[in-house]
Amino acid sequence: MTFLADLRELVECQSPSEDLAACVRVIDLALQISSRNLTPAANLRSFGDRPVFWWGADQPEVVLLCHLDTVWPIDSYLPLWREEGDQIFGPGIFDMKSGFLQAMYALKEIPGAESKVALIGTTDEEIGSHASRGLIEELARGAKATLIFESSIDDTVKIGRKGTSMYRITVYGRAAHAGLEPEKGINATTEIAKIVLSMAALENAEHATTVVPTVMQSGSTTNTVPATATLDIDARSFRSSELQRIDTAIRSLQPSNPAARIEITGGINRPPLEHSATAELYELIESVAKKLGMPPVGHVSVGGASDGNIAAAVGGRVLDGLGASGYGAHAAHEHIFADRVENRISLIAGFIKELING
Ligand SMILES: [Zn+2]
Repeated sequence: MTFLADLRELVECQSPSEDLAACVRVIDLALQISSRNLTPAANLRSFGDRPVFWWGADQPEVVLLCHLDTVWPIDSYLPLWREEGDQIFGPGIFDMKSGFLQAMYALKEIPGAESKVALIGTTDEEIGSHASRGLIEELARGAKATLIFESSIDDTVKIGRKGTSMYRITVYGRAAHAGLEPEKGINATTEIAKIVLSMAALENAEHATTVVPTVMQSGSTTNTVPATATLDIDARSFRSSELQRIDTAIRSLQPSNPAARIEITGGINRPPLEHSATAELYELIESVAKKLGMPPVGHVSVGGASDGNIAAAVGGRVLDGLGASGYGAHAAHEHIFADRVENRISLIAGFIKELING
């Protein structure tokens, strides 16, 4: 199968997000691979300092959104290609080089797709999509559907992703000698300890809202009442309203000692991918699967964010997790199931046809 030969080349061309030269190389290679598989030719575009692969329409109705960067520094995942039964292991193969190629192969089955569809490959997804965010927003606003070729769990699609907030809480107290006159100090450690406990009370299991105190630092020496303390918070939820509730609560924190002062930085980082943004496309892909005589696709919602969150935040209709079936994103056992690729390509091709003709 030529798919696997193309995939091997793409995986062996290592492309950690932080390595700009490597990202340029992987886009060059993606252009070569697409010239063997698709007409018209794809081209290289730039957003900020990042190279982007672009095939198809300038203002697409259907956006096939992929990223070609990986989380793996050069040679940190070796060997670069290993086959074991129907599983293939490699850096970024599951997240998400196979997904990109599956999208490309689906397009091979749709002559004329270039007038309505674009296949996009960015190179900064794993570091927060800072350079490509504007592009993703613009594409999602203008399109009927934004399809994200992130990895799939057990052949399902992803219809929900948590949104993420990050905060740093700083408490300013007052230093004093811990032995001679501790009463003259304002203890920032004691204050931040109370805040840590109050964070747990903000969680809400019903919406899977988590509020996790992570990094904490305070004080200077053992015999000094701590003058400052900081605490980092990672908060996530499937609901925007929940992230808003957490935001309000954190911003209205009051110190128990009125002489202490609290400062908040950070905020809502990526809004959630909510079911309201994915429901329509999910129903459609199930109907396509049925027509093709395939079993129901099924769906999951996950904690991690993707470019789907960005697309949904501007009102885009989104479906995520359309990529390869496998396991182990960002992990040493990252792999895909080669025997499921072909089916997935057929499903995707049918889905895209339905979107552009329906
Ligand atoms: Zn990833």
